[in-house]
Amino acid sequence: MKVVIGHLYPDYLNIYADRGNIAVFERRAAWRGIELEVDEVGPGDEVRPGAHDLLYIGGGQDREQALIAPDLAAKGESVMAAVQRGAALLAVCGGYQLLGRFYRDRSGAELPGVGLFPLYTVAGERRMIGDVLLECELEPGARRTLAGFENHAGRTYLDEGAEPLGRVVAGFGNDGESGLEGCRVGRALGTYLHGPLLPRNPWLADWLLAQALRHRLGEALALEELEDSLEAEAHAVSSARAHERGGRY
Ligand code: GLN
Repeated sequence: MKVVIGHLYPDYLNIYADRGNIAVFERRAAWRGIELEVDEVGPGDEVRPGAHDLLYIGGGQDREQALIAPDLAAKGESVMAAVQRGAALLAVCGGYQLLGRFYRDRSGAELPGVGLFPLYTVAGERRMIGDVLLECELEPGARRTLAGFENHAGRTYLDEGAEPLGRVVAGFGNDGESGLEGCRVGRALGTYLHGPLLPRNPWLADWLLAQALRHRLGEALALEELEDSLEAEAHAVSSARAHERGGRY
């Protein structure tokens, strides 16, 4: 079995070790005998719908976002088509912002977005920094927690009826007020959580891998359980830090 990941702008959007998420996909696939190919997609490269089972885009400072936003927006139709055909997607922070309608950065410049997520983002004065804990329910009845780290000036506002990734238990989340974090559109997830996110949240890595395999095989496939005691410990430490931090500012 093989899964192909399209890693968008790895040389521009890779802040706070977000590239570690790719390493987690690679290892958790290899431990199950699944071949995983990573296709780096940079400026001028195309996203061929159907070519990737999962698209990944990391975070970045306003400067890097401004450098790639027009190129990403130009790929917008292909990214939307890929997701509509069933590809999974994970977007983190700056990448997440640019998959909404627009990101107005600290300079007031409005960077164009893809419009995949029903939201927009406006940078505020005070950065939202610290450990975060969320409660998610990606599958009905399966409530899970996500622990991570956030560092963003952007305040992200979901459209009415848009589905968040989760509810903020501790931390700021999308805007520091709504108690919501991230956004979900089918198999596409956006989030502010760095860390990197996946080493301390293995269940999410497996959920995304399972969606990617469904795209590749056309049917659901149960992934064998892995020995995740170290990952569980990392999750516990990250969750405890978020709890110590308490509520939002
Ligand atoms: N530059 C964006 C912001 O400040 C995203 C930051 C990030 O990716 N960590 O909100």
